[in-house]
Amino acid sequence: MDSRADEPAVLTSHPATVGAISVRRALPQRRQRTVGAWCFADHLGPARVTAQRGLDIGPHPHIGLQTVTWLTAGEALHRDGLGTEQTIRPGQLNLMTAGRGLAHAEEATGSYEGRLEGIQLWVALPEATRHGPASFQHHADLPRFEGSALDVTVLVGAYGGVSSPTRHDTPLVGLDLALRAEALVPLAPAFEHALIVLEGAVSAPGATLEPGRIAIWQPGRDALRLVPLEPSRAILLGGPPFPETISMWWNFVARTRDEIAAAARSWRERDGRFAPVASALAPLEPPGVPWRLEGRPHP
Ligand code: MN
Repeated sequence: MDSRADEPAVLTSHPATVGAISVRRALPQRRQRTVGAWCFADHLGPARVTAQRGLDIGPHPHIGLQTVTWLTAGEALHRDGLGTEQTIRPGQLNLMTAGRGLAHAEEATGSYEGRLEGIQLWVALPEATRHGPASFQHHADLPRFEGSALDVTVLVGAYGGVSSPTRHDTPLVGLDLALRAEALVPLAPAFEHALIVLEGAVSAPGATLEPGRIAIWQPGRDALRLVPLEPSRAILLGGPPFPETISMWWNFVARTRDEIAAAARSWRERDGRFAPVASALAPLEPPGVPWRLEGRPHP
């Protein structure tokens, strides 16, 4: 392992607003678009929500990706075009595979009031499944390891010889880490990895991280030694460098601008590609695409 490969890129998350909530967007970054197939990471909140006002993200479409929703506080309600209506709570994971196309909304629960915090991640689907059928999974019982220094919940992939039941179409790992003392987290050397701190502060090789920053390590590491400066919560993501060049715009992951323009048109025109979502929230409409939509080459 040379010293250059050993140094992480430490990057600042971008503040944004999604629905009614402030987020810190850790991925994508200009310097590195993806970590494995992980292509998007929004640290949601912390925010205060009411029974009627929550995430308030109206119906919107996705293609070519999976959304992974994981809360560390509060509750939210997912509805999608498959007819799914699923409340999610801390310790539970919602996984929506958009495939060729699926719309969803994320709403207040009608009952929960209080703090809301979590992370929403997107996974780029590989060529083999990105045009496939949409599906939804709710996992209420993920593998969990509790220790004196560290509790680990295996969101996606494997840890400590145990695999999460969460569907993934390329090799991937996603861990929730609750850190109380110094801990050594084993890594797959073929994977690149990222660490996003949600609460507290964590000293990692080459970086001290707090909420609002992400550290990304290139492949070649077999472990990360993490030292929490206070009780901390972090998300570790990893996977082999994604072998396909993706094109990402608004809520779409594709390979070409034409595919993205076609998906935006299908949503605008409600041509049946995206089944309707039974939500009282107003649907989201795509902003104008930053290139000519049809028929003409980009200048
Ligand atoms: Mn979405």
